Amino acid sequence: MEKLLSVVIPAYNEEAMVESAAARVAAVLRAAGIRHELIFVDDGSRDDTWTAILRARERDENVRGVSFSRNFGKDRAVFAGLSRAKGDCVAVMDCDLQHPPEKLPEMYALWEQGYEMVEGVKRDRGEESGFHRLCAGTFYAVISKLAKLDMKRSSDFKLMDRKAVDTLLALPEEDVFFRGLTAFIGYRRTEVEFDVAERAAGQSKWSFKSLARYAISSVTAFSAAPMQLATVFGVLFGILAVAAGILYAVLGRDPSGWLVFFGCAGVLGVACLLLCLGVMGYYLGRVFRQSLGRPRYIISRECGE
Ligand code: UDP
Ligand code: MG
Repeated sequence: MEKLLSVVIPAYNEEAMVESAAARVAAVLRAAGIRHELIFVDDGSRDDTWTAILRARERDENVRGVSFSRNFGKDRAVFAGLSRAKGDCVAVMDCDLQHPPEKLPEMYALWEQGYEMVEGVKRDRGEESGFHRLCAGTFYAVISKLAKLDMKRSSDFKLMDRKAVDTLLALPEEDVFFRGLTAFIGYRRTEVEFDVAERAAGQSKWSFKSLARYAISSVTAFSAAPMQLATVFGVLFGILAVAAGILYAVLGRDPSGWLVFFGCAGVLGVACLLLCLGVMGYYLGRVFRQSLGRPRYIISRECGE
């Protein structure tokens, strides 16, 4: 039997994009002679994304669809798509065509050569502003260091062997971070460079708040190092206290100056302590959510076998 490629496409409020994305991806794969299925995951969209998926399926029976009961976030949508994919290999790409479908045949050819994780890496960051570029650059520098994974240029545009997909699906964590987990699982990997295209229609779903949340959940998924902030602060304030004690014994004359100094140091110490408690809270939150054992997502509708 000819090999099958599944393409997983998460879609949140993408009614303007679904049909054109389906048509363009299918055209590229048909031209390259690759047997395929397209799996759109409607991530609880508030617009008519689901209707657009049904229309795309009417036109092309290789289109399948899954719809969430509410918005669960892109990473969970990707995992839902992976769980439905029947392919010998599975590609993941955005619905807004910022990941060029024209790269898929090249990625597929590398998979045929034996690579198990073909990663799309960004050549440039497209239309993002200087500030966004700086934030993203810093974010990936920090998380790469914390998680000991090089994720600076990585994207969610990937093509994976069935083995890698099954490994991802077997991971037990509730809060999935696709980009980090694909790096974590290893396998024989290679890269394909692509230029980030401009979004063809609709809007980016990322607000500063959602990016911050994403950053926190990805760091806490891969590193326990931030919890050691408490140790660092403890040592720093310990040294400071001893040094101040010695200084007071040696030069202490005017008590009001010392009062101000110890007052400020005390408030700073409390602030650091609260910060550490907050950091611990994030980790505790992860443990708590995991212990509840709730599903990663809830599917309300599906179309296509
Ligand atoms: N997406 C999703 N759920 C969300 C947010 C986004 O499935 O909660 C999808 C979105 O439809 C698109 C992809 O994830 O296919 C990337 O989203 P977006 O273009 O908004 O992100 P950006 O390209 O700006 O990073
Ligand atoms: Mg986009």
